[in-house]
Amino acid sequence: SNRIMLGPLVAAIDQGTSSTRFLVFNAKTAELLSHHQVEIKQSFPKEGWVEEDPKEILQSVYECMDRTCEKLTQLNIDISNIKAVGVTNQRETTIVWDKDTGEPLYNAIVWLDLRTQSTVERLINKTPGRNKNHLKHKTGLPISTYFSAVKLRWLMDNVEKVHEAVLSHRAMFGTVDSWLIWCLTGGKKGGVHCTDVTNASRTMLFNIHTMDWDPELCKYFDIPMEILPKVRSSSEIYGLMKISSKLKSGPLTGIPISGCLGDQSAALVGQMCFKDGQAKNTYGTGCFLLKNVGTKPVMSDHGLLTTVAYKLGRDKPACYALEGSVAIAGAVVRWLKDNLGIIQTSTELEQLAADVGTSYGCYFVPAFSGLYAPYWEPSARGIICGLTQFTNRSHLAFAALEAVCFQTREILDAMNQDSGIHLSQLQVDGGMTSNRLLMQLQADILCIPVVKPSMPETTALGAAMAAGAAEGVSVWSLNPEDLTEVTSERFEPQINPEESELRYARWKKAVQRAMNWET
Ligand code: ADP
Repeated sequence: SNRIMLGPLVAAIDQGTSSTRFLVFNAKTAELLSHHQVEIKQSFPKEGWVEEDPKEILQSVYECMDRTCEKLTQLNIDISNIKAVGVTNQRETTIVWDKDTGEPLYNAIVWLDLRTQSTVERLINKTPGRNKNHLKHKTGLPISTYFSAVKLRWLMDNVEKVHEAVLSHRAMFGTVDSWLIWCLTGGKKGGVHCTDVTNASRTMLFNIHTMDWDPELCKYFDIPMEILPKVRSSSEIYGLMKISSKLKSGPLTGIPISGCLGDQSAALVGQMCFKDGQAKNTYGTGCFLLKNVGTKPVMSDHGLLTTVAYKLGRDKPACYALEGSVAIAGAVVRWLKDNLGIIQTSTELEQLAADVGTSYGCYFVPAFSGLYAPYWEPSARGIICGLTQFTNRSHLAFAALEAVCFQTREILDAMNQDSGIHLSQLQVDGGMTSNRLLMQLQADILCIPVVKPSMPETTALGAAMAAGAAEGVSVWSLNPEDLTEVTSERFEPQINPEESELRYARWKKAVQRAMNWET
């Protein structure tokens, strides 16, 4: 046959909040050769609750792998050239399963979920001085509904099956990376129960200084340490794939899974932000600005998180990041589509907003899951204000896009204040960046250029790089310097800074009205 000779390939599983992807890269050029994407259902069983089905998540991975293998075969590319697989995932989302049956014991509680709001308030009220930053010195995080420990606590308190499985030593806890790696390496027949340092650093059970589970934190949340996965670096061989020979992806059996990073860390790696001070902003379901701060954790005075950025090998040092997390970005687009029905597809939003080119004084604070950085206010709720008889759905669409930009501006301001250094441009990626109006608006509202790589799958690229560079795999020979040639698109600010400031000041007023809604 006319098989194309390409040399080693590296694949990535990118399991996001809204979809799953499987992508295959050329390890010598970082070129994306083929991929497949499948949407994930989200359910909202009660107000503020957000769940996904762990088995559907796993099935979506198999489907993406199968379809990509098919496409590669059609391209005459030999699947056996794939030398390693990396995993990158939505972070914090919490799953508990039974290690004997392999069955999940409840749906995955998605990071955005607010069911633990009262638990969080109770925990904060118990701390000296009602301080939400009580555990920050160890975890880098405020006590919030966002992180896994409170979700796991809820599962143990409210789901009988979870409670029983914990008591009878059958329960396994994991974020989505752990669930997938365990299933893909054999599941109940010898699957590997592990996670990487970046995912672990989002649970609130992990000490970011000792780089291990912290017995005191586990005691604080009353979580038995035996249900936790083993913590590994972001780049090492965790185990070998075991895939049913009935599947098109069956030939991937035996390939090492050797990279694992939470999605935001993977994007930081994929954007080549390896130097202290380099930053990227990813626009997906939420919006996450991460800045590499080097090998020593830096604590924020302005509401940012300190998190593990990556540790690319067992003997390599860990690097840390300051992070500004925004809960609702692309999710507001999905809401306009699914809940209001003012658009049929997310791509329609751009034209709808461009039709008017202004919000006409309408401000939309989508605090659907409370407000994350820099406020960390779970009781905030969404508001739309400044409406007149004149306001129409196009203005609302524009206000939704502006909301994403204003939230990013708040994060960037906090980051600049923390470091005293101002970023001169912003590197961006994620599903929403295909919206060019959004990119232009972002440059206008930040008053700095916005730079978008032409290969948008940076999250997957980061995971593939980690997998391909792992000890014992070593097929990824590219230096970050070799990839500085990557082409990108720049959006320059086009409005004057005074107008930008005026709009931002109005946004801030709207945010104040969204705060403490229920009190
Ligand atoms: P995640 O990694 O969180 O699953 P993605 O990076 O895949 O997210 O981005 C998907 C999100 O981007 C969805 O919430 C979707 O509504 C939004 N989105 C996708 N395309 C557009 C677009 N052209 N304009 C605005 N939003 C978009």
